[in-house]
Amino acid sequence: MEKTVLVTGGTGYIGSWVVKELLEKGYTIRTTVRDKNKTEKFSHLKDIASTSPGRLEIYEADLLKEGSFDEAAKGCEYVMHLASPFTLRFKDPQKELLDPALKGTRNVLNAATKSGTVTRVILTSSVAAVHGDAIDMKTKGLTEFTEEHFNDTSSLHHQPYQFSKVMAEREAWNMAQSQTTWKLVVINPSFVVGPSLTPASDSESLNFMKDILKGKLAMGAPDLWFGYVDGRDVAHAHILALENPSAEGRHILAERTMNVLQLTSILRNIFGNKYKLPRSSSPKWLMYLVGPLFGVNAKFVSRNVGYPIKLNASKSRDKLMLTYTPIEKSLEDMVKQMVAMNLI
Ligand code: NAP
Repeated sequence: MEKTVLVTGGTGYIGSWVVKELLEKGYTIRTTVRDKNKTEKFSHLKDIASTSPGRLEIYEADLLKEGSFDEAAKGCEYVMHLASPFTLRFKDPQKELLDPALKGTRNVLNAATKSGTVTRVILTSSVAAVHGDAIDMKTKGLTEFTEEHFNDTSSLHHQPYQFSKVMAEREAWNMAQSQTTWKLVVINPSFVVGPSLTPASDSESLNFMKDILKGKLAMGAPDLWFGYVDGRDVAHAHILALENPSAEGRHILAERTMNVLQLTSILRNIFGNKYKLPRSSSPKWLMYLVGPLFGVNAKFVSRNVGYPIKLNASKSRDKLMLTYTPIEKSLEDMVKQMVAMNLI
């Protein structure tokens, strides 16, 4: 296999699984880091490459710098664009979330067009681009969210991460329509869990689990509903989207949706009383009081707590032919590996 794939964000929590699977399949991978001197960000990828048939090349590129990805995209057949900050801990949503997501998407997709060799782009969007607040399902009269839906309730000041993802995905579809050399396929994962290949990721997936295991929710779990999917399955979905010529459009990824108490109950079933896990959901009125301690305001609580959501992931099963890892296994593997990596 001689094909070259540019994977942006290949050092991250999800990106590392993508790079691993591609290297194992023999692809040549170009991945990007902001600073090549920070070798701790990519040393795990070098280790994987040393025992894989594929080849790894490291390029320096920044989402915020125009033209930054041009060199890395030259001669590539495929681009997988994962790089984007996934953080809920920010001061300036414009600078820390929207700019890297939107300008970064423009930069990477422009690099794909300029290359003249790229035929397919896989974009890592999110279910955050499908819906905003959980209440949206009820107010829109829906019984579930599907690939037809776009988040139209987030803004720079309300759910800015979600806003950054929907703005970036919309930009990608616009750019895809204005050229003819590459085809766009979009992956929309729900909240990603499962083990990490890197200890150096700032992903909220890892922060969320650290908070749970440290007992931050011991007094009660917020009645917040999310879809969950294993990071290894997310990576595999990217590869299926790359290799299946008929893959098209968007793909919601979710093994199941559940609330936080259901998730922590799975952890209790596996690990018993080893961690201080909640035994009940917090009443909504309490969430208004303690929300600010967790970085959430009253508007977020009113529009999200106590509203179950449903995500239709049948396209990922029927068209991409993705089979999902049971979340029980994802959570068990995740906690065991975080302990082994001293992340907890
Ligand atoms: P992560 O571990 O924090 O990875 C983010 C990646 O983006 C890192 O490789 C990081 O590179 C890169 N990046 C961030 N800002 C950059 C910049 N200015 N220039 C260049 N690279 C930059 O997060 P993740 O959870 O794997 O998320 C990866 C993608 O999946 C994101 O697009 C995210 O929105 C999406 N997603 C995540 C989830 C989830 O639950 N985790 C769910 C749905 C979608 P450095 O190594 O230089 O920091």
